[in-house]
Amino acid sequence: MNAPFPRPGLLDIAAYQPGESTIPGKDRVIKIASNESPLGASPKVSEAVKGGLNKLHLYPEGPATQLRQALATAYGIEAERIQCSNGSEEMLHMLARSYAGPGDEVIYSQYGFLAYPIAIQIAGATAVVVPEKNLHADIDAILAAVTPKTKIVFLANPNNPTGTYLPDAEIRRLHAGLPKGVLLALDEAYAEYATAPDYTSGLELARSADNVVVSRTFSKIYGLAAVRVGWSYCPQNVIDVLIRVRCSFNVNALAQIAACAALADNAHTEAARAHNTLWLPKVSAALAAIGIPVVPSQGNFILAEFKDAADARAADAHLRSDGIIIRPVAGYGLPGYLRITIGTAEENEALISSLTAYKKA
Ligand SMILES: *Cc1c(COP(=O)(O)O)cnc(C)c1O
Repeated sequence: MNAPFPRPGLLDIAAYQPGESTIPGKDRVIKIASNESPLGASPKVSEAVKGGLNKLHLYPEGPATQLRQALATAYGIEAERIQCSNGSEEMLHMLARSYAGPGDEVIYSQYGFLAYPIAIQIAGATAVVVPEKNLHADIDAILAAVTPKTKIVFLANPNNPTGTYLPDAEIRRLHAGLPKGVLLALDEAYAEYATAPDYTSGLELARSADNVVVSRTFSKIYGLAAVRVGWSYCPQNVIDVLIRVRCSFNVNALAQIAACAALADNAHTEAARAHNTLWLPKVSAALAAIGIPVVPSQGNFILAEFKDAADARAADAHLRSDGIIIRPVAGYGLPGYLRITIGTAEENEALISSLTAYKKA
C-alpha cells in the first residue's frame, strides 16, 4: 500500500447526493427539491448579519450563549441543556461518534433520513435498518431489533422523505420500551410544520428523560439552510459529552446572529407556517385529482406516488423539461415516488400544470 489508508468501512459509505439545483440549458429553474422555505429567511436576518460584518476578525462566542438563551426563552426549556451545531446534521454525527463505535449497533427506520447511515458508518458502528409498515416507522419492530449492542435509535418525526409522523403516544411507547442505556435521538427538523392534533414535539418527553435528545434546525421553517444552524435539547449527561466532542467554534458568528434574528421574527415564522398549511393540502389534493396519490404529509413536502419506477422517472424528466427540479427518492428505496417541496404559489401552480400535462400526454 503506497498511500494512506482510511479507517475500515469509510470507503464503503455511499456519499450523500445533495439535490440538484440546475438543469443544463435552462437559465431559470424552479427548485422544489430540498425542502427549503419558499418564503426565504426573514428580512431582519440580512439586516442583523450586516451588523456582524465588521467583526469578522473575532472568534465566535463558542458556546453560542445568546442563541441558546433565546431558544430557551422561545421554547420554555433550560439554556444549559441546549447544544448548538453546524446544521442539525452535525448533531447527528456528534451523537453517533459519541455513543457508538465498532461493535455497536444503531437503529434507524427503513425510510429514515439518509444522513443516519452515513453518520453511523463514519462512527464505525453497525446500522440496523428496521422495516416500516405502510411508510410509517414501526415501533414494535424497532423495539424487537434492540440488542445488548444497541446504543442509539435515530427517528425523524415527522420523517423525511415520507412526510409521515408518529403520535406522541407511540413515541412514548418507544421510549418506555427502550433500555435506559439506549439513546433515543428524535430528529424534529419538520416539527414546526406538523398540524396533526396528536403530534407533540419530543421536547416534553426529553425534559424528564436521561436518554432522549431532540434535534431541531434553522434550515427549514426559518429559511436559513445556507448558514447551517441546528440545535438539540439534551439531558445533562449528554451535554457533558457534547461540550467535549464538538469543535470549539462549530457555529460561526454570522450564523449565530442570523439564527437569533430569525428566532425573534415570529411574524415571519408564522407566515411560513401559514403558507405551508394553505398549500400542502392544495398541492396534495391537486395531484390526487390528476391520479397521483400523495402520502399524507406533516412536513413542507409531499411524497407523490407514481405507477412504478419508470413512471416516476418519466414524470421527473417531464418536470425537468419544464424547468422544475424535484427530488427523486430511489436512493431511499422508493423508486416509484418523487419528493416535492411546497414552493411559492407560482411554483406550486407550475408544478401542478406540468404534472397535469404529463398525465394527459
Ligand atoms: C433537512 C433535514 C434536517 C436538517 O438538516 P440541517 O443539517 O439542519 O440542514 C435534519 N433531518 C432531516 C430528517 C431533514 O430532512
